[in-house]
Amino acid sequence: MPQTPSPDLHAVVREIAEEMRARPDRGEVATYIPELARVDASAFGLVVIDADGTIAAGGDADVAFSIQSISKVFTLTLALGMVGDRLWRRVGREPSGSPFNSIVQLERERGIPRNPFINAGAIAVTDVILSGHQPREALGEILRFMQFLAEDPTIAIDEAVAASELRTGFRNVALANYMKSFGVLDNPVDFTLGVYFHHCAISMTCRQLARAGRFLVHSGRTPSTGHSVVSAERARRINAVMLTCGHYDGSGEFAYRVGLPGKSGVGGGILAVAPGRASIAVWSPGLDASGNSHLGRIALEILTRRLGWSIFGV
Ligand code: GLU
Repeated sequence: MPQTPSPDLHAVVREIAEEMRARPDRGEVATYIPELARVDASAFGLVVIDADGTIAAGGDADVAFSIQSISKVFTLTLALGMVGDRLWRRVGREPSGSPFNSIVQLERERGIPRNPFINAGAIAVTDVILSGHQPREALGEILRFMQFLAEDPTIAIDEAVAASELRTGFRNVALANYMKSFGVLDNPVDFTLGVYFHHCAISMTCRQLARAGRFLVHSGRTPSTGHSVVSAERARRINAVMLTCGHYDGSGEFAYRVGLPGKSGVGGGILAVAPGRASIAVWSPGLDASGNSHLGRIALEILTRRLGWSIFGV
């Protein structure tokens, strides 16, 4: 149910942005993708869009960053739209308890990744989207979906980030080849990885990301346009997978501290969903040991506590 917007929303967001700017503990910027290592660790942005469409923005709300694994929420949504529940034959929906780029479970589980948000799972999902298309078409489809959801045709791929990961993404190459050996990928590994690296390299601001996430807040519909993006049931299920798997082996900690479905990316962004209440995007490039935004998580913990927005109660 949509709630009355908190009268303090603007103040809360502004205060949190100021608090986060001042903190010395910022985590470590990802360096395994060389282009991401160049990002300024002092950046911090936060945008909340509530049920009325009120936008509260703080800090670097309009600075674009690499959304990385947050793109996996949107590729999952697209792939479910294309093949429905058959997708779950190719990828599981259980938390992995393993790092985002781990290969160990894949051997025991015959090449079927645990969930669509670890790298292996997201590569399998990308392969589903790619089937029957040229890589360029599949990528265009993903990018247009983001632009449509955010109502912003300027959203683009950062080619330097994509090229950087194409040069250095050896683990993802290993994961993809390993899955291919089990017959889990249908397309040439290079094609699937090319699309995967490029959708991870989509560049967006917190404001654009919070806009794109609104359909997950409102039972599958984007309120400003009235577009039904997915059914209410599908939105609920995507949120469930975000809650249980959205932060890799830090998913339990995120649920414990923040209490919202959320998806992180190694660019330092997090998209969080307060069902019926708000779409929230936060960005701080420094990461914790699990590869999730350190201050992003802390900011969301403070936000949900101050506004009573955890799905588990106040
Ligand atoms: N493109 C990144 C990778 O595949 C995504 C990881 C992440 O954002 O967690 O390594």
